[in-house]
Amino acid sequence: MMEKILVLDFGHGLPDPGAVKYVKEYEWTMKIGKEVAKRLPIDIKVIYTRTTDKALDPNKSADLNARCSIANQSKADLFVSIHLNAGGGTGYETLVYSPNKAGNIIHAEIAEVLVKYGVKDRGIKIRPDIRVLKGTKAPALLLECLFVDSAADVEKLKDIGFFNDFCQAIANGIAKFLGVTSSKHIQIANKPKEEIEVAKQYEKDAPISPSFKDAQKWVKANGISDGTYPQRPVTREEVWTMLYRASKVNK
Ligand SMILES: [Zn+2]
Repeated sequence: MMEKILVLDFGHGLPDPGAVKYVKEYEWTMKIGKEVAKRLPIDIKVIYTRTTDKALDPNKSADLNARCSIANQSKADLFVSIHLNAGGGTGYETLVYSPNKAGNIIHAEIAEVLVKYGVKDRGIKIRPDIRVLKGTKAPALLLECLFVDSAADVEKLKDIGFFNDFCQAIANGIAKFLGVTSSKHIQIANKPKEEIEVAKQYEKDAPISPSFKDAQKWVKANGISDGTYPQRPVTREEVWTMLYRASKVNK
């Protein structure tokens, strides 16, 4: 299979933090983008526009031009820019320069997750004024991944179940548009047997030891975690979120 090139753009970067309220946009564009990249088939080569907290240039206009140049010089098959929205609204939307197949396919994948979690689907919007959409030769999308100034939206992003499903949907949409078949087979088939066993432990509905079943029921019932991926390691952020939620139970 021919290798496909995706340029993945984490929006903003210091000194420009993007929108800031309950979370900082530049941090979450990277967080979401990295999780999407992790979930892509290995036949998609991912090129990042930035890999640090910093923008490509402290000058906003030069920064945006540099992002377009990376996409154009790498002969990208697809350019996806990750952003978060602000301004008093709620939900998710896909921005495009003009209606395109990539937008339709990827939005449709994400829309299913929005329905599942009751997040507003704001649709696909035509925005020919946006620099990274206008200045890139490849099909280009800008994903507005919920609102940093909506407490409900940020709660959703911090929900491990939503976050994982949402990022997986973006990855699935990208793979579908690029015509690269689903990742799991390709990635797992190339790995030694022990690694496959470890990977299996991390699956969403991996078996759980009987002594932890009550705890799993309790975290689900009290909205602390959705009870999936019982064997997967947690980040500090996830621990904090779960402790915070647990502190609110029975109050
Ligand atoms: Zn933005």
